[in-house]
Amino acid sequence: MNAIGVDVGGTKIAAAVVTESGKILAETRYPSSGPQERLLSSIARAINEVGEGIGEIDGVCIAVPGFVLAAENKVVFAPNLHTIEDVRLKDEIGERTGLNITVENDANAAAWGEFRFGSGSEVDHLVFVTLGTGIGGGVISHGILLRGAQGAGGELGHITIQAQGGPQCGCGNYGCLEALASGTAITRRAREVASEQPGSALGRIAVNRNVLGEDVTEAAQNGDEIAISVLDEIGTWLGVGLAGFVNVFNPDVVAVGGGASKAGELILEPARREMCRRAQSPSREFVEVQEATLGPESGVLGAAALARDESGEYVLGS
Ligand SMILES: [Zn+2]
Repeated sequence: MNAIGVDVGGTKIAAAVVTESGKILAETRYPSSGPQERLLSSIARAINEVGEGIGEIDGVCIAVPGFVLAAENKVVFAPNLHTIEDVRLKDEIGERTGLNITVENDANAAAWGEFRFGSGSEVDHLVFVTLGTGIGGGVISHGILLRGAQGAGGELGHITIQAQGGPQCGCGNYGCLEALASGTAITRRAREVASEQPGSALGRIAVNRNVLGEDVTEAAQNGDEIAISVLDEIGTWLGVGLAGFVNVFNPDVVAVGGGASKAGELILEPARREMCRRAQSPSREFVEVQEATLGPESGVLGAAALARDESGEYVLGS
């Protein structure tokens, strides 16, 4: 039966009807801006609109950018979307749609999407890392989504990588993986390099406007040594983080997604190299570090699958 996946982000709400095999039948988008009441009515409208004329719906899962208190289906902390905090989404949206609602952290939902339909669909153990403005992630072990005691587990971006002198992270701590290997970290390093070396390709861009992450990827793909070295440095920090995940979870696959993963092997190659240097054998030889395959739709796909596999527990081999 079909299910609805909803991915609520800092700027938009995406809702989709998804089949059991991961095919999107209908999709809609609404802005997530404005006061709480508008946000809730937009989520409900998106669900009602996308489900219209589709027939019976198995369930709905709403993926949100924050910590979800599993026992209450409530978001307790959402740094990029404060209006969704403390709302009992299950009840509020359930009443407005008449459907059974579950709530999940957005990175966990995206990880579940990759596990069911993307880079992890052939395996039972997946670590998914997304490199965007921040670093999100999710862990599936033995076919089960790792949530932790309260539902706040799987925060892969906030492990400390550089305890002394690391840059400050959005979470307030210093030296988190997110502060060193996210898209934001690429931009920060690129701007530093551009001002140190004004004659470089990045330095010449900086004369007219702010250097962006895409500029670094483009210059590196054109063979610019300085841009390549920025991505190499970022990839190396990522590899330090991945080594920890590989040691702890012994995954079949580490999938790297998010906007910054467009740099592909320019980041993955140094990440793999550093992971191999630091992780233990045999996990490090066994694991495949690769690009995630679903792109931004992993959120709605994973949420829809979670609406069905409500416990986030997938029967292995099915
Ligand atoms: Zn942090």
